[in-house]
Amino acid sequence: MKSLDKKKDLKEILRRLKKEFPAPQTALQHKSPFELLVATILSAQTTDVHVNKVTGTLFKKYRSVKDFADTPLESLKKDIKSINFFNNKAKNIQVSAKLIIDTFGGRVPQTMEKLTSLPGVARKTANIILSNAFGIHEGIAVDTHVKRLAFRLGLTGHTDPVKIEQDLMALVPRKEWGTISHLLIFHGRKTCQAKKPNHSQCVLYDICPSREI
Ligand code: SF4
Repeated sequence: MKSLDKKKDLKEILRRLKKEFPAPQTALQHKSPFELLVATILSAQTTDVHVNKVTGTLFKKYRSVKDFADTPLESLKKDIKSINFFNNKAKNIQVSAKLIIDTFGGRVPQTMEKLTSLPGVARKTANIILSNAFGIHEGIAVDTHVKRLAFRLGLTGHTDPVKIEQDLMALVPRKEWGTISHLLIFHGRKTCQAKKPNHSQCVLYDICPSREI
């Protein structure tokens, strides 16, 4: 597909998905940038529903960055033990909290470089924080749904998230970088699932190059 065609298709994809999902935003519940950071670290290979269940209690017990930094690590592990990889995630959350206090004046940093200096924060997580907590679009968060949908919709020929992100950034207007990620995630969860895409109920059926898979 030529790049002009892709841009035209992308515009139509955005239009239709915005109609289907009028309020695209992260499903991870949070009341501050640091809570979103914690929830996003916890969400790796875990459903947002499960993370919200855990953070509903967690954020009542730990009310500040300092609370997460000062608690004995074993207590934090115990409080998130129902989540995959809770040992590493607890360590990453606590070291991040300490670094935020010691290096960034107690506030979650607002640049890709500084965010990715925190343990457990790679580019995808940093994009989520920047976009959802600060409205800053430095890139596009590519998770498993975005990866699958971008490929199926012909918006990329790559399977590597970094290259997919570059392809999407070249196609999508910057102000939509946060939105496209949410829309593809919602559509991936509801209709275009990994194992059984529901082509017949899909609002993108007539413009999707993968409708026969
Ligand atoms: S037509 Fe099928 S493959 Fe294409 S986006 Fe819709 S559900 Fe996914």
